[in-house]
Parts: sequence; C-alpha cells; structure tokens
Amino acid sequence: MSMPMPILLLLLLLLPQGQGHGGAGDICIVGSGISGSSTAFFLTNYTTALSGAQLRVFERRAKVGGRLATVTVSGDHFEAGGSIIHPRNLHVRRFADLLGLEAKTDGDDDWLGIWDGHRFVFQTLRPLPPGTSWLRRKLHTLVNSLRLFKRYGLSLLKMDRFVQEMLQRFMLYYNGFESRPVFDTVEEMLKWSGLYGLTRRTLEAELLDAGLNSQTISELVTVITRINYGQSVSISGLAGAVSLAGSESGLWAVKGGNWQLAAGLLEAANATLHLQEGIDSIEYAGDHYILKSNKGLEYNCVATVVATPLDEVNITFSPPISIPARKTQHTHATFVRGILNPKFFGLSSVSDIPKLIGTMEVPEIPFSSISILKKYSEQDMTYKVFSRVKLNESLLDQIFSGRKETIRINWPAYPHYEAPEVFAPIILDGKQLYYVNTFESAASAMETGAVAAENVARLLIARLRLPLPSRPAAPAPDHHDQRADL
Ligand SMILES: Cc1cc2nc3c(=O)[nH]c(=O)nc-3n(C[C@H](O)[C@H](O)[C@H](O)COP(=O)(O)OP(=O)(O)OC[C@H]3O[C@@H](n4cnc5c(N)ncnc54)[C@H](O)[C@@H]3O)c2cc1C
Repeated sequence: MSMPMPILLLLLLLLPQGQGHGGAGDICIVGSGISGSSTAFFLTNYTTALSGAQLRVFERRAKVGGRLATVTVSGDHFEAGGSIIHPRNLHVRRFADLLGLEAKTDGDDDWLGIWDGHRFVFQTLRPLPPGTSWLRRKLHTLVNSLRLFKRYGLSLLKMDRFVQEMLQRFMLYYNGFESRPVFDTVEEMLKWSGLYGLTRRTLEAELLDAGLNSQTISELVTVITRINYGQSVSISGLAGAVSLAGSESGLWAVKGGNWQLAAGLLEAANATLHLQEGIDSIEYAGDHYILKSNKGLEYNCVATVVATPLDEVNITFSPPISIPARKTQHTHATFVRGILNPKFFGLSSVSDIPKLIGTMEVPEIPFSSISILKKYSEQDMTYKVFSRVKLNESLLDQIFSGRKETIRINWPAYPHYEAPEVFAPIILDGKQLYYVNTFESAASAMETGAVAAENVARLLIARLRLPLPSRPAAPAPDHHDQRADL
C-alpha cells in the first residue's frame, strides 16, 4: 500500500536531518587521529547497530592521523610526531595485525650521549659495525650494561621495577568485558587499575620513593622525559612512567608511517570521512547535537565524540561546557639534512658525536635531543632535533656546520604535566557528548589514546542502549598471554 505524497513528505521533514535507518542516527567523531579512528573502530566492532552512513568522522586537515604524521626530507619519509610503539601496547599491535601493516624496529644498539651543556657526562659504547660476530656483539652488550651499572648502580633495577609495576597495572585495561567495568570518569578508570596515585605526585617524588639516586634522576631519567615529553622530571608520575617505558627494548613502528593505523581503522570502521571539514560549533538541540562545520554545513548527531585535545582548539559549545584549564607543551621538531658541528660539542671530529644526544635540565641547552635518522655518508646525515622553543637560523648555524635542508614543525604536542593532575569529564555535558582526550592528562601516547577510545566506545554504546553482538568481540589478546614478557 503506498502512502499519500504529502504525508510521506511530512514524515520525512519530521525525521531529524542526517539520521540513519538503524534507529540510532548519526554518531559523529571530531578528529581523525588515533583516538578518533580507534573510537570509530571499537564502535563498529562492539555494536551491531552501526553501518557506514551512521558514523561520521570530521577532520579539519587534508590528511588523517593528527599527531601521527611523516615528514619528507630529501625524498625519505620519517616519523614527525608519534613514532615508537611499546611491545606491550596491545591495541595498537592488534590494529597493525588486523590491518596487515608491517612493523619495523631500529635495533637496540643506540649510541647515547648525555650532554650537560659543556660535555658528555656519560656515553654508551658506539655501535659495532655490521657483520660483527655474535660473540663480540654479546660482549659489547655486556660491557654497555656494566658501564651503565657502574654509573647508576641499583637505581637501574629500581627504575625497571617502577616501570614494570606501572605496565602490569596498565595491562588490566585489556581484561575481558566480564572483569572490566565501563568508566564514567578518568579518575574512576585510573583508580580501578591502581594508577591514579601516580598522577597525584611528580615523577621525581615517585622515583625518590622508589629508591633511585639523584644522579640517575638528573641524568638518565631526565634525558628520557625530555625526549618523550619535552619536559623535566617534574611531570606527573604516570606520564613519567609511560615515558620511561618508551626507553625499553623491543620498540617498533609501522613501516611506511604510523598514520596508516588511523587511515586503516577508519576504513575498517566504514566511517564516512569528512576531510578538510573542521567543526566550529557543537550545539545541543534537545535530543541531538547540531555540528556546524567550516564549510557552512550542519550535521545532526545523536551522540558526539570529541577526539582532539580541547586546550588549543576553538570549538564553541552550546550550552557552554566547563573543563579544567590544561597547558599544552609545544615540541618543535626540526629536521635537518646536513652535518653536526663537532666544535659545538667540544669535539674535533663528527664521528665522535653520539648517535642520540640526550640532554640534562640545564636552561642554557637550546634543545632537548638530537638523533640521527639516516646516514648517507660520514659528512651527510638527516637529523631530528627536539626543542621546547623554535631554533632560529643563527643557532642552527652554530649546531650544524652545514645544512642542505631544514624543515620545522611546531607540535601542540602533549599536555604540560603538573601533579596533581585534574581531569576533564569523559561525558562533557552529562548527555551524549564524550571527550576521549581527557585521558591525555594521565599520559599521552598512541596506546593511551586507543585505551581511552575503547572505554568511550563502550560507554556510548551502553548509554545509547545500542545492541551488542551475541558474543562481544574480544577487545585484545588476553594480557595473560603476555606474562612471559615480564
Ligand atoms: C613530537 C611527538 C612525539 C611523540 N612521540 C610518541 C611516541 O613515540 N609514541 C607514542 O605512543 N606517542 C607519541 N606521541 C604522542 C602521540 O602522537 C599522541 O598521543 C597521539 O597521536 C594523539 O592522538 P589523538 O588522536 O588523541 O590526537 P591527534 O592526533 O591530535 O588528533 C586530533 C585530530 O583532530 C583534528 N581536529 C582538531 N580540531 C578539529 C575540529 N574542530 N574539527 C575537525 N577536526 C579537528 C586534528 O587536525 C587532528 O587530526 C608523540 C607526540 C608528538 C607531538
């Protein structure tokens, strides 16, 4: 039986714009980084009520990935933002496996030098040439460990224990649904795993309590926090522990660029991607949200997920939302093809400069770290320099004796960590407006983005009462499989 045309039109007009046919309507995600893309992925995996047209992802830039991006120097691609993945980052590992992305490792034989502004106070041994025998390699590793032990003693073991304890607690977030609740707040989420306490005090205070000596903290630990978060050991303890885990062995990256994780997840979720479409405002309209984009378009969404830090992003919320102020730590990543100036480091030959220069917390040192990304010849390399402020031309001319190419990126990189951390709500308005990146106040990393996204996906499904599959998809390989790594 056909319906009279005017009634059909009236019914169509009464339907909120953009609503899909599954009854749930559009779910909109703002941001296509690892947080937004993994939210999309988990949403499609955890409920049977979504199909492509109902899941919209908005990205203001021309490319997906956000802080996962590559930079091209002389035709070679290098990670410019998030680069290393810990072997126990199970969500990201599962994503890479599912998407058929290949992993690459750099090997663990970095030549680290710790620079205090005048000299290298400590250096590991320079790497052995390729083709060195197995026995010499083993001896080399042993001597390196002994050198580290001689300088830092038992603090090394205590630091390792501190990191392993954090990791063990973090692994609880991979538990099955039966033994893992859905969390309404970051505080609840961290208290459940026993990690909340670490966000209340500085890393330095935590490590002193764990028995580390001050030399280890001011040298080795400082080098790591400056490389990974551009900040000192005054960062909060959980961000610090995550940062220290980033110096362990077995780290990997996606061959061809980590941004492919975001691209692959969005495709797997069959999400409708709105590239170069920034969301300017989010307005609550009774039973749905109206998202207005910079293209002058409007979208009606039954639920909206904000998957970008709101600290330096201008989205107008109506009614206004209130979240605690959070400072952003900017990291300037400067990519240079050229050659370092040995004289800047008080050395006579460039071959004496360590492959990875880490720095102590000395105000006069203008950079946080310098690492070699590619060696073309003894006099021609590509370097990545991290600094807290922009490095001007004359400073770069002092640090480098020759430069063929220089590329600068100013990242709004991660929160400026200050213990005790305060967290914005996950549910921003008490309704259907969710915020993934509140979890970044605990620690910013690809995996923490995915863990926070998974919780938001579960929370949204539960609060919208979306149907679950008869057997919920396993969130990740059971963490008990990983015990052997401990
Ligand atoms: C230099 C650097 C090094 C790092 N190193 C590591 C590392 O080695 N390992 C690791 O695990 N992590 C690392 N991180 C951290 C990691 O990259 C981030 O935690 C993670 O990528 C954040 O992902 P996200 O999706 O939460 O946010 P983002 O990647 O920032 O994504 C947010 C997206 O939202 C978009 N957006 C913003 N506003 C709007 C709007 N109004 N409308 C539409 N779109 C919008 C942005 O363009 C962006 O694409 C590093 C970060 C930096 C900067």
